[in-house]
Amino acid sequence: MCLIFIVNYSNSILPLDSIHKDELILSTTLPKRLPKIAIIGAGPAGLMAAQILAEAGYAPIVFDAMPSAARKFLQAGRGGLNLTHGEDFELFKTRYFEAQNLLTPALEKFTPTDLRAWAASFGFETFVGSSGKVYPLDKKAAPLLRAWLHQLKSQHTVFHMKHRWIGWPRSQTSAEGQWKEWLFDTPDGVKVFEFDAVILALGGASWPHLGSTGRWITPLSEKGISITPLQPANMGFDLFWSEVFKMKFAGTPLKNVQLSFTTEQGETLSQLGELMITEKGVEGSLIYTFSKLLREQLALHAPLTIHLDLFPHRALSHLSEQLSMPQGKQSLSSFWKRLGLTGVKASLLRDVLNKTELNQPGLVASTLKSLPLNLIAMRPIEEAISSAGGVGFANLDEHLMLKAMPGIFCAGEMLDWEAPTGGYLLTGVMAQGRQAAEGVLTFIQARDL
Ligand SMILES: Cc1cc2nc3c(=O)[nH]c(=O)nc-3n(C[C@H](O)[C@H](O)[C@H](O)COP(=O)(O)OP(=O)(O)OC[C@H]3O[C@@H](n4cnc5c(N)ncnc54)[C@H](O)[C@@H]3O)c2cc1C
Repeated sequence: MCLIFIVNYSNSILPLDSIHKDELILSTTLPKRLPKIAIIGAGPAGLMAAQILAEAGYAPIVFDAMPSAARKFLQAGRGGLNLTHGEDFELFKTRYFEAQNLLTPALEKFTPTDLRAWAASFGFETFVGSSGKVYPLDKKAAPLLRAWLHQLKSQHTVFHMKHRWIGWPRSQTSAEGQWKEWLFDTPDGVKVFEFDAVILALGGASWPHLGSTGRWITPLSEKGISITPLQPANMGFDLFWSEVFKMKFAGTPLKNVQLSFTTEQGETLSQLGELMITEKGVEGSLIYTFSKLLREQLALHAPLTIHLDLFPHRALSHLSEQLSMPQGKQSLSSFWKRLGLTGVKASLLRDVLNKTELNQPGLVASTLKSLPLNLIAMRPIEEAISSAGGVGFANLDEHLMLKAMPGIFCAGEMLDWEAPTGGYLLTGVMAQGRQAAEGVLTFIQARDL
């Protein structure tokens, strides 16, 4: 048997003792009921939306399926919490690929500088690392999140955890075309809540055990909202390693290498950075930078060959010269060791060239400068840092409100955009949380709710 409760919030944040007796007697009307505004999804997009609404004097109600808020944000803290990026704003905006123009209005109102000021407002100063990435001084998420939640609660934001939104009652019809009744799966059974406006900030589908499962796709698609299928973004790739190689090197970073590959259009792209060898292939910030293009190319043909320059700071001629020096009585390994060719880099070379080829200095040098790796497939979305795809912008107006469902707004990673790692994700989702909250304010003011 399934129990259904109907919950009604008065939502008044004016305590009675704050109103003088005379005012009560003289006043002919009671204080106006505050509109019931829900935010579903307590990730950084949802929390930023709650902050804007709370600061505007409303009492938003935040729901989340998980027992506690912002689990993915906390997980990001385990990697140092890269909040944003310190590069020039014009360049920064280009990191959102085709969605750049769609995100620009939100980003212009909440720039990387604003994000740093926001963190500082809680007492968390930030710094720009050598790569331009911006982190809080302590590189932790938990203290910042604690301060954020504390402020929200003190500003009358109400939290309902372990409340999974599951859709709308089938019977619901609204003359105004507004979707007032919302169904939640709660520890006490299924409950129906009523709202005047709702912000959905439900995340993508990566790391689903942290709460974002992408299950929102079903109820939204049933209402005719077009959704680009969710795909992995900032993910690793599978490739074939020999048993010996993966036993020895899975979990080993490949530092200071340059990755290059040629796009379908014939353009060669390359970048310096670091990769991580995994049991199944490779992951890490260097490959994440290109993950969108690699995903698109892999969809056309697999395997896809990328190249690594294992000695990006040594010219081919110099490397070739060094490798042509007399080896004397040294073993090949000892000879290579003197040139700095050891460990994972030496093993990669041995995986590509046979014994005869390893004794040809010119070939060894050119292979070290352009070692081919054949990417077979992407790692699944569950393991990816973020998701591509989601609610298409064509469904939304300039306030991120669903055109077909007035009063319902969407923000964050559940929308159809992607960006590489580097702080662009958190900046993007928080900027959109803010944009949606401002949209709600416009919506309720226009309707005098
Ligand atoms: C390991 C890792 C490290 C990362 N590091 C960084 C980093 O350093 N810098 C950076 O910029 N980005 C980083 N990211 C990405 C970043 O954390 C996300 O892009 C960001 O959290 C997305 O914010 P969001 O609010 O849109 O969604 P989420 O943070 O995913 O939040 C969505 C919330 O909605 C809830 N929810 C989902 N469905 C329902 C439902 N039906 N009912 C109720 N609640 C629901 C979820 O429980 C969740 O709390 C990292 C991601 C991972 C996985």
